[in-house]
Amino acid sequence: MYKKSINAFSEAKKFIPGGVNSPVRAFKSVDSTPVFFEKGKGSKMIDIDKNEYIDCVSSWGPLIFGHANETIISSIIETSKNGTTYGASTEIETLIAKKIVDMVPSVEKVRMVNSGTEATMSAIRLARGYTNKEKIIKFSGNYHGHGDSFLIKAGSGAVTLGLPDSPGVTKNIAKDTLIANFNNIESVEKLFNDNSKNIAAVIVEPIAGNMGLVKPQKTFLQELRNLCNKFKSVLIFDEVMTGFRVAAGGAQELYGVHPDLTTLGKIIGGGLPVGAYGGKEEIMNLLAPEGPVYQAGTLSGNPLAMSAGLTVLNLLENKVYEKLENISKKIEDGWNKNIIETKTKAHIARVGSMMTLFFSDKNQINNYNDALELNTMQYAKYFKSMLNMGVYLPPSQYECLFLSTAIDDDDIDHLIKSNKKALEELK
Ligand SMILES: *Cc1c(COP(=O)(O)O)cnc(C)c1O
Repeated sequence: MYKKSINAFSEAKKFIPGGVNSPVRAFKSVDSTPVFFEKGKGSKMIDIDKNEYIDCVSSWGPLIFGHANETIISSIIETSKNGTTYGASTEIETLIAKKIVDMVPSVEKVRMVNSGTEATMSAIRLARGYTNKEKIIKFSGNYHGHGDSFLIKAGSGAVTLGLPDSPGVTKNIAKDTLIANFNNIESVEKLFNDNSKNIAAVIVEPIAGNMGLVKPQKTFLQELRNLCNKFKSVLIFDEVMTGFRVAAGGAQELYGVHPDLTTLGKIIGGGLPVGAYGGKEEIMNLLAPEGPVYQAGTLSGNPLAMSAGLTVLNLLENKVYEKLENISKKIEDGWNKNIIETKTKAHIARVGSMMTLFFSDKNQINNYNDALELNTMQYAKYFKSMLNMGVYLPPSQYECLFLSTAIDDDDIDHLIKSNKKALEELK
C-alpha cells in the first residue's frame, strides 16, 4: 500500500538528514515512516502510491481553503508571469501590510519575513532593543520556531534559569530565556519578581497548539497583559498558528487581549513561505532603516508570496469562520460520541478549526506537565489505523488538526466512521 513511499524514504535518507526537511515529517512519534505526496486538491491529498486521504493537517495550518484553491493558484500564476522577485519595492507589499493592520486588532505596522521562526526571532530582538532589557519569558510546551533563544527547557527544581534543549544552543543564550508554566500566572509573577528590571518580553502562544491544543484559562492572557504593563515588558503573542485561523483577527480578537507585538506565519503566506511581525507603531519604528534595530531579508516581501497571502486574506470573511466552526463541531460531536460508545480514555480539545484528540486519563490538558502524561503509544496506533482508512492526521499526539473549508459532508461522514473503527481497534 505504501511501497513507493517506503522506497522514496530510503532514497531520501541517503541525501537528506533523516530523510526529511522538518523533523515531524519523519513519522517517528507515530512509530512509522513517512508518506510521500504528489498532489492535493480541495480536502484530499494523494500519495505517490495513489492512495487518497482526507487531509486534516492542511500543511500544519496554512491551507485554510484546502489544496490547490483556484483563486489562490491563479493569483500565483498571474504574478509569476512578471517574474518571481525584484529584491526591490512593490505595491503589493503595502497592500498586504494594510490588510494585516485592518484585520489584526493590535497591529499598527508590520514587517514581512520568510517564516514563523524568523518572525519570532526578530520580535524578541526588537523587544530587547525597545526595552533595553535582556531576558525573555517563554512557556514550557510552547513552540516558537527553532531560534536558539526558544530551544530552551526549564531547569530542574530550584534552578530558574533555562537550559539548552538542543546541542548547539549555548548556556549563555539559555540563561536569558526564563521558563514559566502555561496557565499558571504565579509562575510568571515569580520570574518577574526575581528579575524585575530585566524582562524584555513575554512570548506566548495565546492558544497553545504545539503540545496538542491547550486553551488559555479564563484570565491568563489578561493577567499576562497586566504583568507586562506593570514591569514595562513587551507582550508578544505568537499567532503564527492562531492568526487568521481562530478568527480573522486571531486569538487576540477572540479573547479581547491586545499584545504589543504579534508574530504571524502559516496562513499569511497562502501556502508559500511567509512570516510577519507587527505591533505598536512606536515599537515597530525602531526597526532599520527607520530605527537602530537591524533586520533584513533578500526575499522578504516576495511578490509571489505576497500575492498568495493577500488573496487568502481577502477571502477571509466572517462566513468562512462560521463554515469552519460548523465543520469542526460536527467532527468533534461525532468523535465524542465514538469516544463514549467505545469507552476510550480520551477527550477532545477544540477552538474553531484547531483541535486535538488527547489519549489521556485526564479530562483536560492545561499545561506541558499534563501533556507529558499523554498516551502516545495509543495515539500512534490510532494514527496508523486512520491512515489506512484514508485519513491523514498529524503524525504526533502533540500537534493539532487544522481543518479546511474544503471538507464536505461526505468527508465528515468518513472521518466519523473511521474514527469509530480506529477506536474499536485500539481495544
Ligand atoms: C509553526 C510555528 C512557528 C514556526 O514557524 P515556521 O514557519 O515553521 O518557522 C512559530 N510559532 C508557532 C506558534 C508555530 O506554530
